[in-house]
Amino acid sequence: MRRALVVCSALCTVLALASSRVPAQSEDLSTAKPGRAPGQPIDSEYTRKIHEYTTEPFFLSPLIDYMPASATVPTPKAILGDIAGAPTKLPYSKEVADYMRLLAKASPRVRVYTIGHTEEGREMIAVAVASEALLKDLDANHDRLAKLADPRLIGMDDAKAQPLVDASAPIYYITGTIHSPESGAPTALMELAYRLAVDESPYVRNIREHVITLITPVVEVDGRDREVDVVKWHFAHPGETYPNLIYWGHYVAHDNNRDQMAMTLKLSQNVLNTLVDWKVQLLHDLHESVAYLYDNTDSDGAYNPWYDPLLINEWHMLAWNNVQEMGRYGMPGVYTHGDFDNWSPGYLESLAATHNSINRLYETFGNGGTPETVERTLGPSETSRTWWRQNPPLPRVMWSLRNNNNYEETGLLLSLNYFANNRRLFLQNFYEKSKRSILKARTEGPAAYVLSADDPRLGAQADLLRVLQLQRVELSRTTAPMTIQVPAQHAAARRGMGDTASTTVAAKTESRQFPAGSYIIRMDQPYSRIADALLDYEYYSPNDPQKTPYDDTGWTFPELFATSAIRVTDPKVLDVPVEMLKDSARAPGGVSGSGAVFAINHNGDNALATLRYRFKAGDFQIAEEPFSAGGAKFNRGSFVIRKVARDDLDKATKELGLRAYALDAEPQVKMHPARAARVAILHTWTGTQTEGWWRQAFDLLHIPFDYISVQDVAKIPNLNLKYDVIVFPPAGGSVSSIVDGLPMWRNPMPWKNTPLTPNIGTWAQTDDIRPGLGFQGLGNLEAFVAKGGVVITSANTSEFLTTYGLASGVSINHADRGHVIGSVLRSRIVDATSPIVYGVPDSLGVYSADGTSMSISSVKGGGRFARFTSEDTSRASGRGTLEDPDIPQGREALAPRNEAEVLPSYHKWEAAPLSSDQLRSPINVIPPDQRPRVAMRFESGRNLLISGLLAGGGGDIGERPLVVDVPMQKGHYVMFANNPMYRGETIGSYSLVLNTLLNFDNLNAGRKLDAK
Ligand SMILES: [Zn+2]
Repeated sequence: MRRALVVCSALCTVLALASSRVPAQSEDLSTAKPGRAPGQPIDSEYTRKIHEYTTEPFFLSPLIDYMPASATVPTPKAILGDIAGAPTKLPYSKEVADYMRLLAKASPRVRVYTIGHTEEGREMIAVAVASEALLKDLDANHDRLAKLADPRLIGMDDAKAQPLVDASAPIYYITGTIHSPESGAPTALMELAYRLAVDESPYVRNIREHVITLITPVVEVDGRDREVDVVKWHFAHPGETYPNLIYWGHYVAHDNNRDQMAMTLKLSQNVLNTLVDWKVQLLHDLHESVAYLYDNTDSDGAYNPWYDPLLINEWHMLAWNNVQEMGRYGMPGVYTHGDFDNWSPGYLESLAATHNSINRLYETFGNGGTPETVERTLGPSETSRTWWRQNPPLPRVMWSLRNNNNYEETGLLLSLNYFANNRRLFLQNFYEKSKRSILKARTEGPAAYVLSADDPRLGAQADLLRVLQLQRVELSRTTAPMTIQVPAQHAAARRGMGDTASTTVAAKTESRQFPAGSYIIRMDQPYSRIADALLDYEYYSPNDPQKTPYDDTGWTFPELFATSAIRVTDPKVLDVPVEMLKDSARAPGGVSGSGAVFAINHNGDNALATLRYRFKAGDFQIAEEPFSAGGAKFNRGSFVIRKVARDDLDKATKELGLRAYALDAEPQVKMHPARAARVAILHTWTGTQTEGWWRQAFDLLHIPFDYISVQDVAKIPNLNLKYDVIVFPPAGGSVSSIVDGLPMWRNPMPWKNTPLTPNIGTWAQTDDIRPGLGFQGLGNLEAFVAKGGVVITSANTSEFLTTYGLASGVSINHADRGHVIGSVLRSRIVDATSPIVYGVPDSLGVYSADGTSMSISSVKGGGRFARFTSEDTSRASGRGTLEDPDIPQGREALAPRNEAEVLPSYHKWEAAPLSSDQLRSPINVIPPDQRPRVAMRFESGRNLLISGLLAGGGGDIGERPLVVDVPMQKGHYVMFANNPMYRGETIGSYSLVLNTLLNFDNLNAGRKLDAK
């Protein structure tokens, strides 16, 4: 019997191959209707449970209302113990991968690949599902797709492309659960993989035989495992309130889906490499939020201006087909368009759009992470009928994980089928989008971007180049000096040199010489679009019909990195001799000259701080004035280093891209020591999203820190014993929630590594997430500063200081709502002697989320209501003109001694001068050495906006303080109105934070005091 089976098995394979080949040509699978294959048995137990867990008959479709049976291939039940979408089980990422490997073992139609690991070392996988024939042809298919992806390989010859299009199977890449509390996708994708491998219905065979489906079932594997932990805790504590998922990935939560410009996270790099290496035609990312399935690819505007129009039409085709077909099955709440825009290219799905593939995204409906079935109610805005939501969701339903899985699988199957039937069109478009990306250099332009070898900030330049390398952009370097035409306004407009930044001169060019070794990013390459999207400027009109852009409106990387990339339209730049850059971009470094004292110029390079911490025992001094030595010029803030071995310094500076000059003697300049500050990064338990970007920046720069919570601050009476600087990045929630924490009613909510919750990190734990900083913590923080500590705050933590009266003489101004939405604004240095701005270029581009700024005052509690003399045109009603004095009748004209005191005029970034009356009784007048010192302010007028949206002319932002140093007794609060460490995109403003660390005990350097 066994022998017979072996024979049958071998014979059956031959027969199956024959039968799948021959009828595939005669049988037209493209017109197949959904529904089970006649003759293929179903798994009746599994099928029964699908119906049991689905809460309404109209939440089913003929694609998934049965489960095909296989004698050899296990269903997801083998791992889950129940069916996909059961109300009691969310699998860990490893369980999902284990199931995919079971599938691959049992079915020749499935293969599993490791695509990389995360920050915490967990594995990410991709699962390929296709017919045996397609998988056998995988390498040859890849070779064909590679030529379509890079038409340079076939001489840009359409005639050579055509047979490749005809012969190739496209790759449809599905990614699940990048957002950890959006937890339905993994089980849906386990079941989808099974169906694709096993189902013999003509509809599914049409997919399997014509499309290679690639699946990463869990993108954020670290966060997924923590989410499952939280759900397990919830099940173990019935009736108790359970905590939100406080940490998703190691660094960031929801923003893991905003990293795809700067590419700092492993998950971004792993998915992009998979997309590019497999030559994927479509990336479909699965999310959960709105009811019941929002295909948001076909979005409302404004669209990203660098996307190819062919792509925009592909969105329309795919999305409306989706609505049409699910509408055919009577599934309510399936729609597209909505109010999402496609402006920012920072989402995971955007990786496809910026690399010549198609991006798609589903929002399906979930229950906030738990697999339980619960009643859900919706408001009128979600259930209304519109032109794009013809069959809206219901006001009240029981909603199950199974419903979610039904919608996801149905949408995916019909999309895959549509892709199979239109594969030639999508492959043709893939080729043409790739080709147009290459032709772009000589058609719409630009021809190239040039990054000069004489840029004053080569470290930041190398950082930018490495981002482009992560984006798989080709870089080349000039082998000789070159002279090319560059935009004429560039020299004047860059770095905010004046008022000439104007579109009217944009067409003028001037010739400029660039030294050998300058970088050219040629735009005649397949991934030119992402280079253009990152390096160019964005303008988001205040009059755009879309008044609520979904995310940031501006990001221009060269400005945010404090470097320069010159947009060159002259195609002659493409004829310059170059060599391709093979290795990771790095700034030149090392020690030159002779002597035992070393000087390193401060050019705003973030690696300076890394160097300081690498040689903790070295003697590092910081120059308070510019100087010249060893034939080189050094800015304020430059390092003078002793007690470090030359070879060690040479090795370190080569690695870090810093140039050190050995000197015979110490330069004659005023200096203070740069001690390696002991740093804590402070977090709340209400929101850890935004501070994660700061933690990541510190880790990537190898700056050691303790990670402490507001609860720790409340418990440590003498923080000075442990720390010199406490960094308090923007916190989630309201300002008062920093002190209050969460409501103390109901039960304690632990966030703790336990056997029940083994994936919760040991790096941040508490028995109860509810308590906040409290008044004890507030007092400890204040005492820390009074005794000489430094606290760095940003955005809402700066507001926290002013709200609780910790920082005297500073107030927060909120710009009108919608005036700034994630824009790049220009700053100006106010006090170049402040250590905070050492090495920082004037006119740096900074990220502003919402246009928040500050005001300062020399009076405690003042600032917000300050008058601005230059704008003060008010006078009381009375006789005469605006400038005339009023004259009350029946009173003598004013003698000079009775006339109002004339106070000097002042700017918005300055404190109002004190009147003699204020100085007479100075209880609230802040002593001169304790007054706020403004290091940086916002630019004004038309030069304020660099990129993105600025409505209302910026009048409520321009000129106002941006970075303020507030001395308090022996210590300082260093307050940012903006967020200087954001999404790995603001490399240029990192040094404002790092300078504060390096100069923590000398922040008063260069300060001039004025009693008035
Ligand atoms: Zn999401």
